[in-house]
Amino acid sequence: EELNKPTIFKSRESLTPEYIPDNLPHREKEIKALVSAFKHLITSPGSFSQRVLIVGSVGTGKTVTARVFGRDFTRAAKIKGYNIRYVHINCHRNRTLYNVVTEIARQLEIPLPSRGLSVKEMYDAILGYLDESDTYAIVTLDEFHYFASIAGSDAVYFIVRTYDDINASIKRLNFIFISLDTSKLSLLDSTTESYLLRHMIKLKPYTSSELFDILKYRASQAFYEGIVDDEILRFIADYEGSDRGGGGNARHAIEILLLAGDIAESEGADKIQLDHVRKAIMKTSREIINISESILYSPVHELIILWAIIRLLRRTGRPFVKMGEVEKEYEVLCEVLGEQPRRHTQIYEYIMNLKKAGVIDARTSGKGLRGRTTLISIHYGPLDLFEKHVEDLIYRRLGVSKR
Ligand code: ADP
Repeated sequence: EELNKPTIFKSRESLTPEYIPDNLPHREKEIKALVSAFKHLITSPGSFSQRVLIVGSVGTGKTVTARVFGRDFTRAAKIKGYNIRYVHINCHRNRTLYNVVTEIARQLEIPLPSRGLSVKEMYDAILGYLDESDTYAIVTLDEFHYFASIAGSDAVYFIVRTYDDINASIKRLNFIFISLDTSKLSLLDSTTESYLLRHMIKLKPYTSSELFDILKYRASQAFYEGIVDDEILRFIADYEGSDRGGGGNARHAIEILLLAGDIAESEGADKIQLDHVRKAIMKTSREIINISESILYSPVHELIILWAIIRLLRRTGRPFVKMGEVEKEYEVLCEVLGEQPRRHTQIYEYIMNLKKAGVIDARTSGKGLRGRTTLISIHYGPLDLFEKHVEDLIYRRLGVSKR
């Protein structure tokens, strides 16, 4: 019975961090730039050794862009009869120059004695092997900033200046350096630094609409049809999008989608619901803890408004509710609690306070038929527990003030 349990996943593995997708929405331009940087490997192989720098914050697709380029470029070259290899090295895992050079040899399947060779001898053996087999290689050093700070500038020079002291007529090794920022480059001499800066591809954090396209594509690979609605994807994209105050981090967005899928599956749901996503976001962040602290000292009517928002979100099941609806619900709650409702301007101010504290998300809708309205949303959860927490707080507060 366990084995035949139906699943919402078509391919859960495709959402794991190691997976390399076929396409990369919104990174086509960057891949083209890489192709153009390395096209000499086909038009005039060996004429020079290219070095390109990719920078961007976490989750902007640096690693996957280099990998997809490497995979597709070498594949296309092979069809045309060119022997180009792609090597990808994570400098977190290979921290010393010795490890990096050994790893290059291992990935190129160059047999080296396991002991006794110096780094220089190993490197020469690699260059010799490439010559003998008439092979070219593109080597990516990922997390290069890490390598630079641990292995030091001599190690960096050893790699970056591969062909400076060797009189090689054919230059077979080419490099892609991946780094979080350019600050570590100042440890290079100014000629090398300015060379790398001129060959720099900068990846910006993803906006909400870019993340939506990425999630849409990745979800279509991972889940069966009809399991994830666009509304769900937009909700995650809005939470993480750089233009919406998020980190613009695709890794984070995909992690939330995967976790929401796992939660939906464990609850036996046949679709991913907003509350699965809220739970996933809560699990992947420390937000809820900060939130409880942010509302601890809120005026009681700010809390009643928050309660109204949570109740409406739960009742309607929508990703956001409108300002007008919140006001009505707030008035109902005030009546239940025997409290005099505050005026519109005060309510609006409370909502803006909640937004500033990061408790809710509020924004103006696009211009619709009836003009603009404020849309209010909560991205973490689960909302039932959050509601209970807020409700308790209100009753405690009112109890105290009434005594
Ligand atoms: P970085 O190296 O900048 O930290 P990664 O390349 O590791 O970021 O990307 C993080 C995650 O997001 C990976 O799972 C990757 O497959 C995915 N990803 C990033 N950009 C895209 C994109 N444009 N399209 C599809 N998936 C993407």
